[in-house]
Amino acid sequence: MDLQGRLQKHQEAGLYRQRRLLSSPQTPEQCVDGQSLIGFCSNDYLGLANHPKVIEAMVTAAQRYGVGAGASHLVNGHHETHHDLETALAEFLGYPSVLLFSTGYMANTGTLNALLDRKSLVVQDRLNHASLLDGGLSSGATFKRFNHGDYSHLDQQLSGDSPQKWAVTDGIFSMDGDQADLRRMANVCAKHNAGLMVDDAHGIGVCGPNGRGTVAQQGLGVTEVPVLVGTLGKACGTFGAFVAGSEQLTDALVQFARPYIYTTALPPAVAAASLTALQLLAQADEARAHLQQLQSRLRQELTAMGYHLWDSVSPIQPVMIGDAAQAMAYSDALLKRGLLVTAIRPPTVPKHTARLRVTLSASHTNQQLDQLLQAFCDLRHLDRSYHGA
Ligand SMILES: *Cc1c(COP(=O)(O)O)cnc(C)c1O
Repeated sequence: MDLQGRLQKHQEAGLYRQRRLLSSPQTPEQCVDGQSLIGFCSNDYLGLANHPKVIEAMVTAAQRYGVGAGASHLVNGHHETHHDLETALAEFLGYPSVLLFSTGYMANTGTLNALLDRKSLVVQDRLNHASLLDGGLSSGATFKRFNHGDYSHLDQQLSGDSPQKWAVTDGIFSMDGDQADLRRMANVCAKHNAGLMVDDAHGIGVCGPNGRGTVAQQGLGVTEVPVLVGTLGKACGTFGAFVAGSEQLTDALVQFARPYIYTTALPPAVAAASLTALQLLAQADEARAHLQQLQSRLRQELTAMGYHLWDSVSPIQPVMIGDAAQAMAYSDALLKRGLLVTAIRPPTVPKHTARLRVTLSASHTNQQLDQLLQAFCDLRHLDRSYHGA
């Protein structure tokens, strides 16, 4: 295996990625590679990752139960903190049952592999998160994609006579910030007798009544969306993930989802912190309103400056630049002004749609947003090659 050659090619193609070193909490004011910056790329949408009550819950639980879970759920790592969190999540979402996973990546790959077999058909939105695509591809099922948000294409792709069909989508898309029309998807699925699985990693905590996410926002529940995945590492501010569905679904996942079975359970202290975070999240209407106000301001003012924004309804606000090198130039220029905004380039997004992905959090102040807007205003002269989708 020629690693050196591969790395060199990767570098030459402009795809080489490097990690920045963070030495502060996940707050808007960050210390990155020794530099003080205002970050606009965290998924900590409600500022719970550094919330004193969440920290206290974690410390208290660690003092009581120790640090590690010590074993997988099926051996003897299934702790009452896990059980309490599952119960609280089910109640919060209005779903019959919830099963915790260690990560969203594992929840998605584990669930898809447990649900699907060689005779199944799985149809996914092209822009779904990598973990959904990987789960579908590795399941052995017939794997099809539909064009982003194109539900007549979904309808076509679901036709045929597989004994078991599933449609799969993100609730809010992680690179574009737009929302799936779950109601339309559910109707298409009903027509084909297909199941619907939704990954609402970016929706839970952010949208819907009490932050219950995209499914609740669109007035749906377990009948229309029998498999709902959420993560705890984003708006919840902690770590881990879960699958919500029927008792039968979570029972089947305990039996058949290999990433559930063959991994150490989350530390009980992390589950305890998540439970506290969930309680705060459910009551965070004020934070959600502030976030909404920051979003509208950003959209309005950048559009007035002549920037092209994506049709996003979430704290993920892509500013379309077009050319990949130009997106990098923008990102570098923002960094020089003490603002951390990542450039997202192909192949993560389609060609000629390189963008700056601004992510807002309820913990940003209007003054911090002012600084970002002023910088974008100063950089207006930089060339942009994006001419619309
Ligand atoms: C972040 C994310 C995941 C992965 O969740 P982790 O807990 O970080 O592994 C899955 N799906 C979507 C849509 C995500 O944004």
